[in-house]
Amino acid sequence: MNDALEKGLINAGATVIGFAHVKVALNDEIAHLERAISIGVDRNLNEDTIRFLGILQKKATSCLRRNGYKYLCIPPDSDRINSTFISKLYPLFTHKIAATSAGIGWIGRNGLLINPVYGPRLSIATVLTDAPLKVGTPIESSMCGDCRLCVDFCPSKAITGKDWSRNKPFIELVRLNSCSTHKKNSKAVNGKPNCGLCINICPYGRKPVQTVQTV
Ligand code: SF4
Ligand code: SF4
Repeated sequence: MNDALEKGLINAGATVIGFAHVKVALNDEIAHLERAISIGVDRNLNEDTIRFLGILQKKATSCLRRNGYKYLCIPPDSDRINSTFISKLYPLFTHKIAATSAGIGWIGRNGLLINPVYGPRLSIATVLTDAPLKVGTPIESSMCGDCRLCVDFCPSKAITGKDWSRNKPFIELVRLNSCSTHKKNSKAVNGKPNCGLCINICPYGRKPVQTVQTV
């Protein structure tokens, strides 16, 4: 099953694929869907990224359905502003749990998933399933090391500088109020609500490699 999913998703253009066991992160309603397929695509796809992740999720669910397995798609994060129905799915599961559990990356000081090759430049989506997939090795702690670039250069001082690890999942990495206030102020000045400096400055993946990576 892993091979069929990997081949289908890679051929369809996925950048990174991983498989994880995530039962501990699921509530009772969906506890039977204990495996996760974490799908990452390069953020450079910009406005097409969300649509593309949806296509990849459909590819994965077609494969699962053909083989008689159940599934639930957790949509890409940016979809929450577009759909009230989809936004109801967010409290069920966060993509970072699947990605770090699959070994795709760790959570950096900037609060984002960091992949060794693509850095914080991946957008991710998840498919939960009851298929008995072989899973990857989880990443247990941050690999940011001595780097503090995002901490030092964040214009709103929102990044606390703390280190993520799997046994400290609720540690405050980013003061979200400070970050969003900065973005609102930016919009008032130049019409754009985005900042993204903590993505651009991260040394991981600053020169993305155009190859497929499976975990
Ligand atoms: S988006 Fe900008 S303000 Fe927000 S945490 Fe990153 S660098 Fe700081
Ligand atoms: S800029 Fe440095 S500290 Fe920040 S997430 Fe990237 S590697 Fe980690």
